[in-house]
Amino acid sequence: SVKIGVLALQGAVSEHVHALECSGAQVSLVKDVDDLEGLHGLVLPGGESTMMRRMMDRYGLFEAVRQFSERKPVFGTCAGLILMAKKIEGRKGPHLALLDIDVKRNAFGRQVDSFEAVLSIKGVSENYTGVFIRAPYIKSAAENVDVLATFEEHIVACRQGRFLACAFHPELTDNPALHRYFVQMVNEYS
Ligand code: GLN
Repeated sequence: SVKIGVLALQGAVSEHVHALECSGAQVSLVKDVDDLEGLHGLVLPGGESTMMRRMMDRYGLFEAVRQFSERKPVFGTCAGLILMAKKIEGRKGPHLALLDIDVKRNAFGRQVDSFEAVLSIKGVSENYTGVFIRAPYIKSAAENVDVLATFEEHIVACRQGRFLACAFHPELTDNPALHRYFVQMVNEYS
């Protein structure tokens, strides 16, 4: 089976491990550069994107993950999606700049810190409960980006080639459909 790593510097990790294992992958935690060795795919979890970037820099993982992404599939959730975007509202430069999308952080307003919404996710599930926690949304996406789900007219999940991203926390629902979709992607690319 494919080997998938979960970046484990900060944020939601163990639930991702569980969902990926349920989807048939071999899973390991990525805490430093050597942990990327032998992996076929990588998950960038939710948390806080600025903090996660700082920790990636500290452990040399920013450049290592950027290189890994040149050949391998990456799945970013919430803060992970922000790390993958080419444009972040109000920020000078992007982080990994893997997806041709323009994102807004904490986009659903301070009053609604977190909420759940039933989503239809193209090719994944027509009835998927998305858990949004201080979530970003995708303001716009280039034509080569496949929009997988929207909520109130905002894009909340997308795919561009070997890159998958969602604004919500797929590891916090019982439904492993999106993880299964990523495992399938990793299978196709390895
Ligand atoms: N608001 C966070 C950020 O900007 C993301 C929130 C999350 O991952 N739950 O990084």
